[in-house]
Amino acid sequence: MSGKESKGGIKQLSPIDVYMLLPKTNCKECGEDNCMAFATKVVNREDSIDQCPPLLTKANQKNYSKLKEMLKPAVKEVAVGVGDSVVNVGGKLVMYRHEFTYTNPTAIAIDITDELSDDEVLARVKKTQEFTYLYIGNDLKLQMVAIRSTSNDAEKFKAAVKKVAENTNLPIILCSFDATIIEAGLMAIPKARPLLYAATKDNWKEMAELAMMYNCPLAVSVPNDISLLRSLVKTLSAYGIEDLVLDPGTFTGVGLGDTINNFTMIRRAACSMGDELLGYPLIGTPIVAWTEPANSPTVNAWKEAYVASMLVTRYADILIMHGTEGWALLPLTVLRQNIYTDPRKPVAVEAGLRTLGTPDENSPVLMTSNFALTYYTVEQDIESAGKSAYLLVVDSEGTAIDSGVAGRKLTAETVADAIKESKLEEKVKHRKLIIPGKAARISGEIEELSNWEVLVGPRDSSGIPKFLQDKWK
Ligand code: SF4
Repeated sequence: MSGKESKGGIKQLSPIDVYMLLPKTNCKECGEDNCMAFATKVVNREDSIDQCPPLLTKANQKNYSKLKEMLKPAVKEVAVGVGDSVVNVGGKLVMYRHEFTYTNPTAIAIDITDELSDDEVLARVKKTQEFTYLYIGNDLKLQMVAIRSTSNDAEKFKAAVKKVAENTNLPIILCSFDATIIEAGLMAIPKARPLLYAATKDNWKEMAELAMMYNCPLAVSVPNDISLLRSLVKTLSAYGIEDLVLDPGTFTGVGLGDTINNFTMIRRAACSMGDELLGYPLIGTPIVAWTEPANSPTVNAWKEAYVASMLVTRYADILIMHGTEGWALLPLTVLRQNIYTDPRKPVAVEAGLRTLGTPDENSPVLMTSNFALTYYTVEQDIESAGKSAYLLVVDSEGTAIDSGVAGRKLTAETVADAIKESKLEEKVKHRKLIIPGKAARISGEIEELSNWEVLVGPRDSSGIPKFLQDKWK
């Protein structure tokens, strides 16, 4: 039996396809009970074939190579940078997020030009590096710096690259269509493996030489002409360049429709039709919004932000941006986070007892579900009350309070069990539990099963500070 054919003709792997090529000794060295269990995890991308030691021996070399080929993602994974700060882009297996988890969230690069003063360069590097926002337990960040040659002066470019590299470990994109200028930049960071942006139909040979000489990934730019882009990729592949990034052009205004179409068609060709020449990460340049005349920079920033958002939802693996305002970057990074979460797993935190501040035996005990969004909101609201407290996080299988109660995932039994397991009775003198207003209907049952008095708190956790102030003496 072999794998199924999907609509577009791409072969979908089944565990048996992988199993047939494994050593089949059930030796458990991979940590799984048998080869079939390992094969299933490999297909689900939870294990890698490199975790099977017998497969890595010389005797199994052929099967190892076959498996590598079979498991190859539709979109090649390309590494930009080196060491701890390397950013992997692409590596996508599917077109749609509901089919399988997206890997490698869109990397966002902020631009720096070689005509800025040292102080301005440092300020932009600092802003890029220090942008951070904690969202449902994830640290949202920016990933790269794109250095643009606007002076067309090789020495100026080299100095700017050097300055940036001295002040950040973030991976770099070197931007110029002039190979001499790119080479000057490379001389400043010969081992940093920046992304070279970009090869075109006119300069591809010089750019390819540099990419090979410095072992760098290379972006290929052909605006609004997929067939020419494809043929340039073919030429560059034949020349020996393996790590490519495709730039089909980013246009704002009336060209926005073409931009979205091009990104979509390329990704469809790779994921649904198995077109290997288009199976590379995509780079978008919402920064072009700043070239349009506008009454105020806010208008440019707003345009850039919405084009970037569209491209995050339409397969962009890298974005080059100019704006550094929080109001533009924050929604964009939150959107990216939401798209790249694993749809197969509920967004949940670990259940159990949390101590907020330094609670003592008289401190309040509040209860919530283990749905991540609820948990982090409640935690913040308790902290903003300025009171130390215990927070009992009950396993609701990652559902919110109201849906958990309605769907019997959050029940009086689970709450009573959680109280017992947390050993709360050894930590506080009182027996009072504050539950969310949305769980009011199970308050009586909780009291019966746990012998704790239940206080029904506000329906919205923003009311917690006032509730504690009024009711917890
Ligand atoms: Fe099978 Fe390899 Fe795991 Fe051994 S290590 S059980 S051979 S998959």
